Amino acid sequence: MEINTILSDFPILRREVNGHRLVYLDNAATSLTPEPVVAAIADAYRNHKSNVHRGIHTLSQETTTLMERSRECVARFIGAASSSSIVFTRGTTEAINLVAATISRNWDADAEVIVTAMEHHSNIVPWQLAGAKLRVIPLMPDGSLDMAAVEGLFSTRTRLMAVAHVSNVLGTVNPVAQLVAIAHRHGVPILVDGAQAVAHMPVDVQAIDCDYYAFSAHKMYGPTGVGVLYGKPEALAQLPPYQGGGEMVDKVTFEHTTFEDAPLRFEAGTPNFVDILAMPAAIGYIEGLGWDTISATEHALLQRAVAGLSAIEGVRLIGTAPGKDAVLSFVVEGGSSYDVGLLLDRLGIAVRTGHHCAQPLMEALGITGTVRASFAPYNTMEDVDAFVAAVSKVVRMLS
Ligand SMILES: *Cc1c(COP(=O)(O)O)cnc(C)c1O
Repeated sequence: MEINTILSDFPILRREVNGHRLVYLDNAATSLTPEPVVAAIADAYRNHKSNVHRGIHTLSQETTTLMERSRECVARFIGAASSSSIVFTRGTTEAINLVAATISRNWDADAEVIVTAMEHHSNIVPWQLAGAKLRVIPLMPDGSLDMAAVEGLFSTRTRLMAVAHVSNVLGTVNPVAQLVAIAHRHGVPILVDGAQAVAHMPVDVQAIDCDYYAFSAHKMYGPTGVGVLYGKPEALAQLPPYQGGGEMVDKVTFEHTTFEDAPLRFEAGTPNFVDILAMPAAIGYIEGLGWDTISATEHALLQRAVAGLSAIEGVRLIGTAPGKDAVLSFVVEGGSSYDVGLLLDRLGIAVRTGHHCAQPLMEALGITGTVRASFAPYNTMEDVDAFVAAVSKVVRMLS
């Protein structure tokens, strides 16, 4: 696809911000939404607003069929063997909370969960709420995992491993298949947080062999309010219900209730079916671009940005692992990330600043926050050049 065609799919990129052309480099927080996805959401509201799984009337049945088609599309997208492995949630956060709240119901008080030092709060706090003690895989100086430390973290108290596929701060791509193999060798199930992976690289959950995989639609050009929990059939079957309500039950009496099997067992209440119906459009958009284009474009942008920032005195890059994804964190000598972000915004550049929902990682790195630029295929070399020039200007202002 031509870059001009891609740009025309995102009218928001024609906006001006503070008198400058918008340069949107906050894709790791949320991606922009292309016209075909906006159209699919509008079409669902206009033509398919009828509740799923309840009615026998034609519209309801049609919407139910379309929602199940979305489920099949998601299953195919991540290489799941069956659509019954796909549970729709509100997002990555809810998907992880679902697993944490249910799998932990028969854990002892001394249960341990192994995580990495680079986890997002949403892959830390749910395990703490579940009563688990966290054991942490430390990092190497370049922001990759210290794989030699993994084995030593297992004990008879280990109940689960939960790891990011890609770091939202460092861009590090973790060797998840290798971690799965280690966890399984210890008889421990593993959850992978794929929030930063699914829009940037082909994901095959069967090849990774993880027990659970979680991600959000809004970071893959899709709607907000939709997430996915993938689970192996035996991994989902082992979880008790999460929330109770309509849709998830088989038979209800005041004395006793029986439940549906997965995935419906975990989808209490009316799901966000309007946005779920737009999932195939988001997946279609990614597949229309193609993984080769996505990967080549994002890595070229990253490379140019790394070269540009490296040449600016007073800028230090955070996270330099080989093969990293297009997420670029840095700190500026003599300026807080907040100040740098504010000044960049005045120049029309949207970046993220602060701890990025990864306070323990900041502590491990000995910093309070970073400035983060993250790239998508609709970004251009002009965006990178404007960004590097703006950072250079900001560094001069702050010194
Ligand atoms: C964004 C993100 C999350 C949380 O996703 P939500 O859509 O806010 O639920 C979790 N983990 C990582 C790595 C993320 O980047």
